Amino acid sequence: MRSPVAFVTGASRGIGLAAARLLGENGWRVALGYLHSRTQAEDAAAALRESGCDAFAVGGDVSVREEVERMCRAVEERLGGVDLLVNNAGIAQQKLFGDITPEEWERMFAVTVTGAFHCCQCVLPGMLRRGGGRIVNVASMWGQTGASCEVHYSAAKAALIGMTRALAKEVGPSGITVNCVAPGVIDTDMCAMLDASARAALADETPLGRLGTPLDVARAILFLAGEGGSFFTGQVLSPNGGFVI
Ligand code: NAP
Repeated sequence: MRSPVAFVTGASRGIGLAAARLLGENGWRVALGYLHSRTQAEDAAAALRESGCDAFAVGGDVSVREEVERMCRAVEERLGGVDLLVNNAGIAQQKLFGDITPEEWERMFAVTVTGAFHCCQCVLPGMLRRGGGRIVNVASMWGQTGASCEVHYSAAKAALIGMTRALAKEVGPSGITVNCVAPGVIDTDMCAMLDASARAALADETPLGRLGTPLDVARAILFLAGEGGSFFTGQVLSPNGGFVI
């Protein structure tokens, strides 16, 4: 039996990179999506190949339909049909609501929601043909609760959660699961804008007393992708250290 194939978007850094590595270590063949960080993604893919996992890096902007179609074709040609799609590519921005420009609002939704839409539409025909598949969308606890100064981010992540629940109902009868992870504050480049005191305050507010790591989220993704996740669909799994219960 062939090893299953995972396509992880935004796998050049942070959570996506940790997920790609963990999937590779657990027998998946992995396509690592990137936008700008080509060298990081290619180096990560090469390291995975050295450890015996078939992996390659594929570049493109998830918000652009033609680029997603090209990436999905490349994954299929190189590794085979996608069994697991992880919609992880994302951007963040902290701004007062009144200062968000229409372009920034649209970009947030284009990457977060439309990007996931394009990727799902491109891989679903193959999953439907093969009679199964898994989709994991990377949302955020702010999509569950809302965050001040991140209204566009929170709204886009809430939309991703809504999309997850609706699509899960539509494709469940075809043997395809669609779930979300909604991480808490995770120590990646995305949090680089936080100074030491903000990070300490966030860790303090977290019942488990620390920020999350990319691996904390990767483990939740691996769970939803694996045997343990078989009867989960339309769910939001929240590795957040107890920040939001
Ligand atoms: P990160 O370190 O900033 O990495 C973001 C990744 O997304 C990079 O690989 C980047 O690619 C890729 N990307 C950005 N825009 C893209 C686009 N238009 N097309 C394709 N790829 C694109 O972020 P992270 O913290 O790992 O976050 C990963 C996901 O988790 C995001 O969806 C984020 O919203 C979510 N999340 C993060 C946290 C947190 O606290 N860090 C909490 C909750 C949820 P390049 O590097 O190649 O440009």
